[in-house]
Amino acid sequence: MLYLDNSATTKPYPEVINTFQQVSEKFFGNPSSIHQLGVQAEQLLSKARKQVAHLLGVYDHEIIFTSGATEGNNMAIKGAAFALQEKGKHLITTTIEHPSVSEAFKQLEEHFGFSVTYVPVDQNGFVSVEQIQRAIKEDTILVSVMHVNNEIGAIQPIEKIGEMLEKYPNILFHVDYVQGVCKVPLNIKNANIDLCTISGHKFHALNGTGVLYVREKTPLVPLFSGGSQEYELRSGTESLAGAVALAKGLRLAKEDYQQNLQQLIKTKELIINRINNWDEVVVNTPQHSAPHIINFSVPGIKAEVLVHMLEEHDIYVSTTSACSSRKKLASKTLLAMGKPQHVSESSIRVSLSYKQSEHDIDYFLTVLEQSIEKLKNVMGL
Ligand code: PLP
Repeated sequence: MLYLDNSATTKPYPEVINTFQQVSEKFFGNPSSIHQLGVQAEQLLSKARKQVAHLLGVYDHEIIFTSGATEGNNMAIKGAAFALQEKGKHLITTTIEHPSVSEAFKQLEEHFGFSVTYVPVDQNGFVSVEQIQRAIKEDTILVSVMHVNNEIGAIQPIEKIGEMLEKYPNILFHVDYVQGVCKVPLNIKNANIDLCTISGHKFHALNGTGVLYVREKTPLVPLFSGGSQEYELRSGTESLAGAVALAKGLRLAKEDYQQNLQQLIKTKELIINRINNWDEVVVNTPQHSAPHIINFSVPGIKAEVLVHMLEEHDIYVSTTSACSSRKKLASKTLLAMGKPQHVSESSIRVSLSYKQSEHDIDYFLTVLEQSIEKLKNVMGL
C-alpha cells in the first residue's frame, strides 16, 4: 500500500498504539478521583502536559487537551468572541480556512451578531500582513489565520502578522497550526500568538486527540459546561491514554522532522519537477509551501475518477481536502486564489509522510502518468 493522504490523517506510530494500550490497561483511573488510581492518572496527565508544553516551547498550564482541532478551533474562536464581545464584535479571518474555522465564524455572524471580514488571498494562496492590518477596525477583537493551508500547503506569514498585532493589544490572535506541526516550525511564543490549535492524528498520534494552546491570561468563555477539568476551560473526563499517546507522537514526529526533513523536501521537489513537465497538469502548490503537500489539477479529468483509478493500484491520495471531498465541492482554496472552476474541481492533493522510499515515488509517478494517459484517451482529450 502506498498511502499519500497524510494531511487527511496519518497512520499512528506503533509506539503510539503501544502507549495508548499500556496506559488504558494500567492507568484507567479518572484523573479527578482522589484515590490512588486517580492520583496516578493525574500525575501521568501532568507529565504528558509537561512533555507537550516542552515540545511546543510553552508553559504547562497553557496546554489544554481536547478531542482534536475541530474542537480546539471552535473553542478558541467562539470562546474568545464570547469573552470579548463587550469590547467589540468585529472578527477577522481569511477566505481559505479549514471548515472548523470558517464555519465557526459563519455561526458567530449568523446567530450571534458578530461581523466578520474574510481577507482574500493572492493568486498563490497567501494573505498579506498589510491586508490584515487594513481590515482592523476599532471594534476588532480577534484575528484568526491558519499556519499551513491544508489543501495547497501555502505557509502564511504568521510571525509577521503576530508582530504587526503587537500594536493592537486588545486583539487576540488565533492560529490553526494543524498542518504545520513537525513539518514547518513555528515559535508560538515569538509569534505573539494567544490561541493555537493542533491535532494528534496529523502527526502519527491518534484521532480524537488534540491540544489548544491558550496563552496565560487569555480571556476565553468555555464552550462545554461541566466539571471544568482542563483549567476551567474545557470540561469532560480527559482521555488520559490519548493525551499520553499524543505526547509520544509529538516527540517521535519531531525526531522524524529533525532526521528526515531534507529527504521529504527532495521527494516533494522530485514529484513537482516531474509533473510540471506533463502538459496536461497544472501545479497548484506555490513555492513557499510545506514540505509534505503537493496539489495539482488535471483539467478535464474528474478528480474522483483519478483518485479511484490510483486506488486500484493501492495508491491513496485525495481530492482537495478530506473534509469536503465527499461533498464533491470544488477546492475552496483554489477558487479563493482565482483559479477557474474546472481547475478547482479537478484538483488532487498528495500528502507525504517521512516514510516514502524513492521506489514508492517512482511507482506513484509511473502509475499517475499512465492513469492520466488512459483517462485522456477515454475522454478524447
Ligand atoms: N484544521 C486544519 C487545517 C485541518 O487540516 C484539519 C483536519 O483536516 C482540522 C483543522 C480539523 O482537525 P480534526 O480532524 O482534529 O478535528
